[in-house]
Amino acid sequence: MSKLFKRTKILATIGPATNSAELIESAIMAGVNGCRLNCSHGSDEERHQQIEWIRAAAAKKGRSVAILQDLQGPKIRLGMLQNNHLDVRAGDELILESDPSYEHDGSFTVPIQYNLASKVKPGEPLSIFDGKIHAIVLEVVSPTAIRIKIENDGFLMSKKGLNFPDTDFGGDILTDKDLADIAAGAEEDYDYVSLSFVQSASDIEKLRQILLAHGSTSRVIAKIETKKAISSYENLEAIVKASDGIMVARGDMAVEAGAEVVPIIQRKLIALCRAHGKLCIVATQMLSSMVDSPEPTRAEVSDVATAVIQGADTVMLSDETANGSYPIEAIKAMKKVILYTQNNSQITPINKPIEHATIYDAISNSAARLAEDIDADVIICQTASGATAYAIAAARPNLPIVSVTSNPRVANQLALIYANSAFVRPYSPEFGYDLAVELKESGYLKTKEGVKDLIAVIVSGDNDKSGTDTIRVRNI
Ligand code: PEP
Repeated sequence: MSKLFKRTKILATIGPATNSAELIESAIMAGVNGCRLNCSHGSDEERHQQIEWIRAAAAKKGRSVAILQDLQGPKIRLGMLQNNHLDVRAGDELILESDPSYEHDGSFTVPIQYNLASKVKPGEPLSIFDGKIHAIVLEVVSPTAIRIKIENDGFLMSKKGLNFPDTDFGGDILTDKDLADIAAGAEEDYDYVSLSFVQSASDIEKLRQILLAHGSTSRVIAKIETKKAISSYENLEAIVKASDGIMVARGDMAVEAGAEVVPIIQRKLIALCRAHGKLCIVATQMLSSMVDSPEPTRAEVSDVATAVIQGADTVMLSDETANGSYPIEAIKAMKKVILYTQNNSQITPINKPIEHATIYDAISNSAARLAEDIDADVIICQTASGATAYAIAAARPNLPIVSVTSNPRVANQLALIYANSAFVRPYSPEFGYDLAVELKESGYLKTKEGVKDLIAVIVSGDNDKSGTDTIRVRNI
C-alpha cells in the first residue's frame, strides 16, 4: 500500500494570500488538489486570471487540479454604514432598507443588499455578523423595507452577512448576482459550481438546468448550511441525490442551526455521500488558527483527522489560504495530518450499505475489495465520464486509484475524489495498462520493497459498446 499518496484531497480557497502565479504554484506543489474561487469576493477579471495561473501550474506539475466556482447564493449582506460601524443595544429597532435610492439617515435605517419584504414574516429570527447580533423581524414596513428588533448589545459593520434560519425563500435562492456569475462562469474553465444556502433538491435541479442552458460541463455541489436543508434526513438525502457532491459548510451552518449541530450533520452527510457515491467536502475552520500562527492547534489536527477517518473525499481551507499569513504552511500541515491518519487508521465503515444502482457500481465495489484482498499496489480505472472512478472511490479502498480518461474536464473533476489521481490520454482499449507501465517506468508508481512487479487491478469497459464490465489483475 502506498504511504505517500494522500487519499483525502485538499481544496484551497484562493484569495489575497495566494493571489499570484508563484503562490498558486507553491500551493499546488505543497499538496492542493483543487482551488475554490469565491464569488462573494473579487471580480470576474480576477477570477479569470486566477484560473489561468491554476491551469498553468497544474500543467507544469503534470497533475489534474479541480477549479470550483462558489456562488454566493442568498447571502444577504448589509450595505455601507456611515463610518463603517453602528453600535446597537438590546431593544433597538432598525429598518433594513433595500432601495438603493433611499436617503439613509445613518443611524436607525440601515442599507441592505437584498429585498426581504416579500420573504420574511413577523416573529422570524435573524442573526447578523456571523451570529454576533441576534434580532427578530417585527414587520414589513414598505415594499422594500422591514423593521427588526435587536436582542443583544454589540455593533454592526458594513457588508456583514445576515442569516434568516426560519425564513422560507420559496425555492427562489438564486440571486441576480448568482445568475450573472453563472453566465460569466460558463465562459470559464470551471470543473465544479457550488451553490450556497441550498434549502432543497429543487434548488440544485434549477442550477443544473441553468448551467446546461449555458452549455456548462461543470458538476454541481450543494453547500449544506441552512436549517431548512438539515431539517430532515429525507431532505438531506434528496439534496445529496440531486447533486454531484456536497460541501459541509460548517461556518454558516453553525450560525443557522447552532455549532453543536455541526459534528453530527458532518458525520451523517459523509455517510450519505459515501452511500450514494457523491463527493463530500468538509469545510471551514479546519486549521483556522493558522491564519495567524505557523502551527495548528491540537484540536484542529484532531478535526482534520476525524474528517479523514469518517471518509470525507476532501477537506477545505478557507481563510487559512485566502487571507492568512501562513497559507503554504497550512497546506503542508493538512497534508501531514492526512498522510499520518490514513497510514495509521482505517476509515470507519458506514451503516447504510452502498447503493449499487447499476451493474458497474457493483463491479467497481468488487474491484476495490479485490485490490485490498490481494494487497495490490494500485487500482487503474479506465473511465469516460468519471462514473466508474466515483463508484470505486465510494468503496474507500486503502490504496491509490489511478484513473485514465480522454476527457480533461473529467480528469480535473476527479482531482477532488477520494484516492484518485487522474491522467488524460487518448482512448484505446488498453490505455489503463499502458498508463500503469508508463507510471512505473517514470517512478510515479513504485513496487513494494524487494518486489519486481507492480500489482495493478485494472477496471475497464469498451467505451462504445458497454459500460464498465471487466476487472483484470496484471503484474506490471
Ligand atoms: C461556510 O459557511 O462554511 C462556507 C464554506 O461558506 P462561505 O465560506 O462561502 O461563507
